Amino acid sequence: MYTHYQVLILGGGTAGIMLAAKLRREQKNLRIAVIEPSKDHWYQPAWTLVGAGTYNYPDTRRDEASVIPENVTWVQDKATEILPDENKVNTEHSGFFSYDFLMVATGVKYDLDGIEGLREALQQPNVCSNYIDPRKTWGVLLEFKGGNAVFTQPSTPIKCGGAPQKIMYLADDHFRKTGVRNNTNIVFATPGSTIFGVKEFLGTLQEVVARKDIIIKTFYSPVKIDSKSNEIHFKRMQPDQQSFTANERIKERIEGPDTVVIPYSMLHLAPPHIAPDVVRNSKLAVQEGPNKGWLDVDINTLQHKRYPNIYGIGDVAALPTGKTGAAVRKQAPVVAAHVLAQINHNKQPAEKYEGYSSCPFITGYGKMVLAEFKYDNMRDSDPFISKFIDTTKEQYSMWLLKKYGLPWMYWNLMLKGIM
Ligand SMILES: Cc1cc2nc3c(=O)[nH]c(=O)nc-3n(C[C@H](O)[C@H](O)[C@H](O)COP(=O)(O)OP(=O)(O)OC[C@H]3O[C@@H](n4cnc5c(N)ncnc54)[C@H](O)[C@@H]3O)c2cc1C
Repeated sequence: MYTHYQVLILGGGTAGIMLAAKLRREQKNLRIAVIEPSKDHWYQPAWTLVGAGTYNYPDTRRDEASVIPENVTWVQDKATEILPDENKVNTEHSGFFSYDFLMVATGVKYDLDGIEGLREALQQPNVCSNYIDPRKTWGVLLEFKGGNAVFTQPSTPIKCGGAPQKIMYLADDHFRKTGVRNNTNIVFATPGSTIFGVKEFLGTLQEVVARKDIIIKTFYSPVKIDSKSNEIHFKRMQPDQQSFTANERIKERIEGPDTVVIPYSMLHLAPPHIAPDVVRNSKLAVQEGPNKGWLDVDINTLQHKRYPNIYGIGDVAALPTGKTGAAVRKQAPVVAAHVLAQINHNKQPAEKYEGYSSCPFITGYGKMVLAEFKYDNMRDSDPFISKFIDTTKEQYSMWLLKKYGLPWMYWNLMLKGIM
C-alpha cells in the first residue's frame, strides 16, 4: 500500500505553496500533500536588495512549516523518481506515494559544471552571485577598490532574467557613494542580443546604462572562468571577424575566432540553470530541442502535454516567458481552475495563462522600473497602477513597492492563496 493523495505537489517553494493554498481555499475537502525537503522557505526576490546591503537576509526566510496551508500534509522529503504511467512518485526516505493529480513545482537546479572553473571561482573572495549567496555579494561590493567589475549571465534560461542587471545598477550607485567609481569599469556581458526584450522598457534601461557609463557586451556567453588570473572567457555567439575589436579600456583580449577574454577585479554572475534531476530524467521532460529537460506543459493551461493528470507550475515549466514569482501568481489560479474542473468532472474552464511575468528593474537605490510583460515580449502593465504611474520610467514609488509592499504581499496574501 502506498500513501495516496488526491493532489500531490512536488516542491514547497513559491509555486508549490501558492498552488496548495489556492486549491485548499477553493475546495476544503481535498487530500493534498506537498513533498519538500527543505525546512526553510525563501523570498528570493529580496536577495537583490540583500546583495546591495539594503535588506536583512534573515527576513527573507521563514520556516517551511509556517507556510504550509492548514490541512495540507507536508512530507519533508525529496522526490527522487516520477512514474507517470503508474501515478506514483518515489522519495529519498519515505518510499512511494500515489496520486490522482500531480503538480510539479520543483523550481530549478544550478548547474555549477555548466561553466568551466565556476565551482572554483565561487570560492574566491572577488566572485559572487545573488543566486547563491547574496550576503557574499554585499561583502564583495564593500571590499571593491576599483578595476573591472564584470556582471554576466549564462546562455540557459534563468530565474528573474533582470536580476543580474539589477545588482549591477545598485553596485554602480554604491561605487559612486564610496568614491571608487572613478577608477572602475562596469561591464555587462550577456549572451542575448539586447539587455531587455520588451521595447517599451528598453529605452529607459538604455538611458540608465548610458547615464551610468556601463559597457554592454551582447552575444557574450560565459564559458570559462580562470580564478588564478582573474579572467573570464566568453564565446561570442555572433562572431563578426572583420569589424570586431577588443575593448582596450577594459583590457579585453581576443583569444580565438569566437572567444574573448575579459580580466576582472570582481565578478557577479548567475549560474547556468537546468531542471532538477527528478524532472530532467523523467518522462515528463521535453525530450529534444532548446527546452530539453524542462517540464513539457501546454503554455496556456500548464497541463502536461502527454499526461493529463499532471500539471507544472513555476520555474520548472518550459514556458517562453520570464521565470519569476510574479509569473507564478498568475499561473496558480489557472492551474487550480483546471485541476478542480477535472476533479469535479466539470467542463474545461476558460482560464488561460497568457505568459504574464514581471521584472522589477531596480536601477539604483530608490529607483525602479516595473517591467510587466506576457508572451511574445508584449507589455502587460497593471492597468490600475498604470492609471497613476508611468511604469516605463524609473519611479521611487515602485522602489517602495519592491522593498516593502511586495514582501508583505508575498507572506500575507500570495502564500495564503488570497491573490
Ligand atoms: C536573485 C533572485 C532575484 C529574484 N528576483 C525576483 C523578482 O524581483 N521578482 C520575481 O517575481 N521573482 C524573482 N525571482 C524569482 C523567483 O524567486 C522564482 O521565480 C520563484 O521562487 C519560483 O518559484 P518555484 O516554486 O518555481 O521555485 P522555488 O521557489 O525555487 O521553489 C522550488 C522548491 O522545490 C523544491 N525541490 C527541488 N527539487 C525537489 C525535489 N526533487 N523534490 C521535492 N522538492 C524539490 C526546492 O527545495 C524548493 O523549495 C528572483 C530569484 C532570484 C534567485
